[in-house]
Amino acid sequence: MPQPFDRRRRPRTSHRPTPPVIVNLGDRFPLTIKKLGVEGQGIGYFKHKVCFVPGALPGEVVVAEVTKIHEKYLEAKIHQLRTPSPARVTPRDAYAGEAGGFELEHLAYAEQLKFKRQVVLDSLAKFKPRGYKHYEVRDTIPAPHPYGYRNKAQFQLRQVDGHVVAGLYRANSHDVIDMETCAIQMPATMRVMRQLVAWIEELQLPIYDEATNSGIIKTIAIRESASTNEIQVTFITNSKKLPQKRRLIERLQTTFPNVVSIMQNFNPGDTPLVWGDETMLLAGRPTITESLMGLDFQLSARSFLQLNPEQTETLYEEAAQAVDLQPTDTLIDAYAGIGTIGLSLANRVQQVRGMEVIPAAVDDANHNAQLNGIDNAHYEVGTAEELMPQWRAAGLHFDALIVDPPRTGLDQALIEQILAENPTKFAYVSCNMATLARNLARLTPTYRVDYIQPVDMMPQTPRCEAVVKLSLNPNA
Ligand code: SAH
Repeated sequence: MPQPFDRRRRPRTSHRPTPPVIVNLGDRFPLTIKKLGVEGQGIGYFKHKVCFVPGALPGEVVVAEVTKIHEKYLEAKIHQLRTPSPARVTPRDAYAGEAGGFELEHLAYAEQLKFKRQVVLDSLAKFKPRGYKHYEVRDTIPAPHPYGYRNKAQFQLRQVDGHVVAGLYRANSHDVIDMETCAIQMPATMRVMRQLVAWIEELQLPIYDEATNSGIIKTIAIRESASTNEIQVTFITNSKKLPQKRRLIERLQTTFPNVVSIMQNFNPGDTPLVWGDETMLLAGRPTITESLMGLDFQLSARSFLQLNPEQTETLYEEAAQAVDLQPTDTLIDAYAGIGTIGLSLANRVQQVRGMEVIPAAVDDANHNAQLNGIDNAHYEVGTAEELMPQWRAAGLHFDALIVDPPRTGLDQALIEQILAENPTKFAYVSCNMATLARNLARLTPTYRVDYIQPVDMMPQTPRCEAVVKLSLNPNA
């Protein structure tokens, strides 16, 4: 007998478990790409199971070939591209898609900018900070040069069939892709790199071999200043000896007068770390000079600097606008690196205090303050979460706070300190939209999100940066 209709009972269909998807490695099937994932891969659904396809774009129909099977999702490669997206462009680098750093080179730049804004929206929808549906998420500020922007090339070297190859690791492997060109690099960094590699091959210098833990040269790092065009070359080596170093130095200096700093970093043994602790001067000066926001910064081989110096000024100017500084303000520059943000803004406030965990970076920050005649900025070694309570206990109160944390975001203890101090002006510079959204969920409702401004620092990659303006919420 049919039961009377019970309004409390829900339809049962949604509880039926979905049958397991039976799929094997190498299987091929047509797949429509629905969107891009945070790492820039295409995402489609094969029988309701998420399938990541690097290199595929939204709206495209591909024949996908399964390369890895996970419990919750599949990985696949494009076997055949059936319907290309109108937003698809030809990558400048032949190996785009094989190594990290060019994941979106096949997507038109305007679409890359939209994608980065969408990453912000998706992260907000996931972590749901208070009022997130009403946040003003602005259009991504484009980089002035979507190619040739990157100031540092750090290439691994390998000896393969009698030749020296130099480049980045192939994704998920320790194979090195020989990179003759790299369109995102500042061109001079590549000219010096390829010439050096040719000389190293000609002079038959010993390249480090992971398998036997023998040989000498492991990595070459080249950094160029965008403002002075000075170049620093660092050989990262397995031994302190660098054969033929006189000849290499002489060739470098005569062929490239801009190479004003030649260094050697000693990193012995088979280690996952690229850099060792000891850096020696081989020729020229130990630093190169970069100008940012009207100040000169001296960079040693290990100093951290944003990879896109031209766009860095835009990022910092956005951070400054978000805190609306006054001459009487005390500004905290947290996660300071070499102090580039705080020092740039020191002339707009009464004093700057900053902290950073890497002692050498803090030395650089204080040294660069001195070089630029800045006497109202001081940097200390320590974590933001440890130093902030000490500074507050010692009576320091601050009006403005700029945080620029690594991908892990703000430590919970620091968030508690911020909520206890409640600075009226607060800018959050973020390089990871997921941890940003998670931190905002905790900072709201004490703070209100006035706007989020995405800034593209790394064109051709899925990496996003954003500046968030936060104000104390009068209704909290
Ligand atoms: N603001 C700088 C650096 C940003 S990168 C710039 O624009 O160049 C983030 C920095 O935070 C790194 O230099 C890292 O060493 C530092 N850091 C990481 N964890 C930290 C912590 N818990 N407290 C303070 N600094 C930290």
